[in-house]
Amino acid sequence: MIHRLWFRLSVIFAVIILVTVGTIYLFVSERIADEMEYYKTISAQYRSSQIRYRLYVFYSGNRSWEGVQTVVEDTAHVSGTHITLVAANGTVIGDSRGREFLGTNYTDSQESPLELTWSQELIGRAYIIPDPKAEEYVAPFLRLSASINRSLLLGGSLAIIIALILIFFLSRRITSPIGVLAKAARRLGRGDLSQRVQLQGEGEVAALAQAFNSMAADLEHAEQLRRNLVADVAHELRTPLSNIQGYLEAIRDRMMKPDAATIRSLNEEAALLSRLVNELQELSLAEAGELKLVYQAEDITKLVKEAVTPWQPQLTAKEISLSLDLPDNLPLVNIDWQRVNQVLHNLLENAVAHTRKGSTINVAAAKQGDWVEISVSDTGEGIPAEDLPHIFERFYRVDKSRARATGGSGLGLTIAKRLVEAHGGTITVQSKLGKGSRFSFTLPVAE
Ligand code: ADP
Repeated sequence: MIHRLWFRLSVIFAVIILVTVGTIYLFVSERIADEMEYYKTISAQYRSSQIRYRLYVFYSGNRSWEGVQTVVEDTAHVSGTHITLVAANGTVIGDSRGREFLGTNYTDSQESPLELTWSQELIGRAYIIPDPKAEEYVAPFLRLSASINRSLLLGGSLAIIIALILIFFLSRRITSPIGVLAKAARRLGRGDLSQRVQLQGEGEVAALAQAFNSMAADLEHAEQLRRNLVADVAHELRTPLSNIQGYLEAIRDRMMKPDAATIRSLNEEAALLSRLVNELQELSLAEAGELKLVYQAEDITKLVKEAVTPWQPQLTAKEISLSLDLPDNLPLVNIDWQRVNQVLHNLLENAVAHTRKGSTINVAAAKQGDWVEISVSDTGEGIPAEDLPHIFERFYRVDKSRARATGGSGLGLTIAKRLVEAHGGTITVQSKLGKGSRFSFTLPVAE
């Protein structure tokens, strides 16, 4: 329990409150005691000046202490004290305790007396002892101070109890979403990627929950992609593999002869498999961002010319006329030559494959701000509008059966897209069914 957040929060808050209330209590009770002391001193001073005044009034009227006893008794009564008035020679001449003390020698007081002088001559000393009963006039103040102290103690204790209860519930409220998150994270860790937490609000914990949810969604999406990829790859490998198997079984059962034609077919299937594996490897590197691209300032005109050259024999055979639209003043582009060459190769391969005999293919380049756009347009069969959004997806083919017959892996455009994006550029397609397609991509101008 001592490791639980709510417990630690409660302890921290309780200590803070205790220290605060304790400090206030000490400070206030000390102030009250000081004030009481000050009040007592002031009232003692006031008392002695009152006594001194009354005695002087008597003495100045009589020029002797004769008959002072009544004044001493009255003064003692009103000031709440015992007064013993002693003549300069030590004889008691007035005593509020009674006449029986008169004439005796005053000896028993350690109190510093109030000295009374007349014309610089000592005429007597008044010993003043506050009457313990009369001390009661400070009692209300003592009671007040005690009651303030009591209230402070009581209020403090009450505040601590209320605060502890509040802290207990508050900290549980704060920490319970964290518990929910921890539980969800544990389930996620065990493989349940559908875990989401429903926490509303705008605080840090809600932000944490949102981050958790988006992480879980990303993980789920990635897992889905992984499963799709495995299923797609298995599906793609199955066809050529079962073809190879079929040929081999037919030869074994003597239904087919292992002649040149059969071996060529077997070789074609093996070539398709090997191409698939190579392209998959390439794609996985590109998707993981691990392709090592060597960027250099290159002449795009030269690159385009070099890329179209290998296609000349096929273009001639299909009677396709190729036109190049390459302006003289094109800037250098910052690219990896081999990779861009591969992109152009894939686009040209598709253009040649999907263009009828006797039509045209155009390759053009043009500067657009900080980019150079390269396009490959054909007047071929075009792509249906509903297929266009998926054309760059892995293994996507418009016509599945024919694409397989022509040896397409369905990865060419996906790889081209990843390579263009690795350069910071974008690749787009425009196409009209029966009219032709235009694939274009952008590359950054070298600085
Ligand atoms: P493949 O290796 O099968 O050509 P791609 O990723 O290169 O795979 O192309 C995906 C699909 O897009 C092709 O199967 C084809 O149906 C369609 N496609 C690509 N380029 C063209 C084009 N120039 N004209 C018509 N269809 C095209």
